[in-house]
Amino acid sequence: MYWEKEIETMARPALRDLQLERLGETIAQAKKSTYYSKLFQEKQLDKLTVQSLEDLKKFPFTTKDDLRSHYPFGFAAIPLQQCVRLHSSSGTTGNPTVVLHSQADLDAWANQVARCMYMVGLRSTDVFQNTSGYGMFTGGLGFQYGAERLGALTIPAAAGNTKRQMKFILDFDVTCIHAIPSYAVRLAEGFYESGLDPKKDTKLTTLMIGAEPHSEEQRKRIESLLGVKAYNCFGMSEMNGPGVAFECPEQNGLHIWEDYVIAEIVNPVTLEPVADGEIGELVLTTLQREAMPLIRYRTRDLTRFIPGTCSCGRTHRKIDRFKGRSDDMIILKGVNIFPIQIEKILMQFKELGNNYLITLETVGANDDMLIEVELSDLFTDDYSVLQRLTKQITHQLKDEILLTPKVKLVEKNSLPQGEGKAVRVKDLRNNT
Ligand code: ADP
Ligand code: ZN
Repeated sequence: MYWEKEIETMARPALRDLQLERLGETIAQAKKSTYYSKLFQEKQLDKLTVQSLEDLKKFPFTTKDDLRSHYPFGFAAIPLQQCVRLHSSSGTTGNPTVVLHSQADLDAWANQVARCMYMVGLRSTDVFQNTSGYGMFTGGLGFQYGAERLGALTIPAAAGNTKRQMKFILDFDVTCIHAIPSYAVRLAEGFYESGLDPKKDTKLTTLMIGAEPHSEEQRKRIESLLGVKAYNCFGMSEMNGPGVAFECPEQNGLHIWEDYVIAEIVNPVTLEPVADGEIGELVLTTLQREAMPLIRYRTRDLTRFIPGTCSCGRTHRKIDRFKGRSDDMIILKGVNIFPIQIEKILMQFKELGNNYLITLETVGANDDMLIEVELSDLFTDDYSVLQRLTKQITHQLKDEILLTPKVKLVEKNSLPQGEGKAVRVKDLRNNT
């Protein structure tokens, strides 16, 4: 039932027609909000009726700052009495952002997540455990309603408490879990530390991982530790939450659901579209949202369209594993580096564990990078072995990031680990 064949495999021209029809509805709906009605008037877009998908380019981008400065209800396109849920992101730098949902919005979102989960093999006979935080973090309720919609037995375990997570997985014959990558690793380690092998001792077959950037190497590691297939899932609260794009069984890129969003990829500096297949910033327009439509929303997430068709038969375009957010980029000595490039190298060394921390610091007149990485269980205190290993890692990192970082191997479980998304970079530089 959640294999929506007609839509998922729709011929591209028909899919574009559907997008055009929904874009017209979205723009009409957006006009009902304070923010867009004023903006459209200012830009003389209020009389424009969209004739083709190209017309979307006439509309300005919407940014997180726009959401913040029209906090809390400037984007509401229906009366608040008709809204049934509000999600808000934490406001560490000024006002938080608010996303409003009508019941129809929540239904569409649940269907979208159910579609993703069905695609990677979840059925009503499965037992699904969600290890993400609930509350405002949309990975909680988003997966909860998606899995329930599909009919799976769903366990809202929420974040943390690894002993309890493991007990549930064992006692309830859990087959599928959702976790952020850093937590998937911790859960796997929890099993091994208790003398259990999740590959043999659990019924787990499938893992959905997302919410933070992770490398292909990290995915492979997690798959072999837990004995599962791991599928990359992408979403953000501004676009409902999880389910915006999801990997199919090919495990080579994420189908972005083009009946729910129009996706563009632009150069983050010039804001012009990049050439097909090139990396840029993902920009999304909602197509089925009634309470709070967003037009050309700049996600700040960097990815690319994967050219060509997918052998799974779905026609919705695929985007590549995320490189990170534009604001995750480290600029050190004039070189641009993404933490994910560092992770990719570290994960290739079986001597290394899964936790690492990049610290940027000013030493004398120079800015330097220190990479602390935990050793795996193969820990040895033989100084010359460790020294050799450090040298090899440094060498490979230099090839990847074109700078020589300081590498420090530390004991397992000695780096800080929070409950939410992992903090990989600490910037202690002067003048930043
Ligand atoms: P916050 O902005 O507080 O992190 P969200 O929970 O809405 O709020 O997080 C959305 C962001 O998480 C995305 O914009 C993206 O940067 C990141 N993200 C989500 N899924 C993935 C994924 N599969 N790979 C990489 N990054 C992801
Ligand atoms: Zn596919």
